Amino acid sequence: MSSAEIDQRREALKQVFAQAQVCVRCQELAATRKNVVFGAGNANAELMFVGEAPGASEDEQGLPFVGRAGKLLETLLKEIGLERKDVFIANVLKCRPPGNRDPLPLEIENCREYLYSQVELIQPRVICSLGNFSTKLLRDDPTGITRLHGKAQELTLGRRTVRLYPIFHPAAALYTPRMLETLRQDFARLPELLAQPEPPQPQADEADMLAQAAAARAASADATSASATSPDATTGSTASAAPTSSAEDAGRAGAVDQLGLF
Ligand code: URA
Repeated sequence: MSSAEIDQRREALKQVFAQAQVCVRCQELAATRKNVVFGAGNANAELMFVGEAPGASEDEQGLPFVGRAGKLLETLLKEIGLERKDVFIANVLKCRPPGNRDPLPLEIENCREYLYSQVELIQPRVICSLGNFSTKLLRDDPTGITRLHGKAQELTLGRRTVRLYPIFHPAAALYTPRMLETLRQDFARLPELLAQPEPPQPQADEADMLAQAAAARAASADATSASATSPDATTGSTASAAPTSSAEDAGRAGAVDQLGLF
């Protein structure tokens, strides 16, 4: 991938970020948030992490995983030779649920479009879902993390086929040594997963059909939330996706780009 293409990708991500920053689809979250926590890291990352939702520290700083769970995530990354700047970190929800309550189904639906746009633009090879919320959302299935952790599967999201690798949420491992050990073991398999060839990508026609189906789902979410909350003209448009050119390995290594430090 050329540096011009990476710049294009970064600019497209910034546009989606700008939309998320003024999003009021979830009235309660929009009224109580200090910052929209869009995500941060390398816009050209091969590895993307998807957590649940910002907590108090993240809301304060506008960056994901900057509290205790984030410190553990950084430690685990270091153990496999990676740093935050090598990966992209996002969440299912871009706004903090008050009192750190669980995300509500309508909030997850409202926010899904932003996450899908991030995946389409960044084009990661591997997505690590952290815990139940992101795993259930991305798999579109209620099976829980205890059954799925450590098992990679190919998954098509919009125009992109990735390897999804569910693992426990670092917050869950903070106080439970056995879970931390399992998380560490699952993390240790990441380099091997990243070394595997990119999964076959959908053909253009098929990719368009899948993307249209995703857009239709997002539109119906808009309709649902518009009837549940006041309409929001600023967030009605769908984020445009990046060109679907296949990512070239050579371009990735040198492309350290800290999106999220806007
Ligand atoms: N937990 C999450 O799921 N995301 C964050 O950003 C922080 C903690």
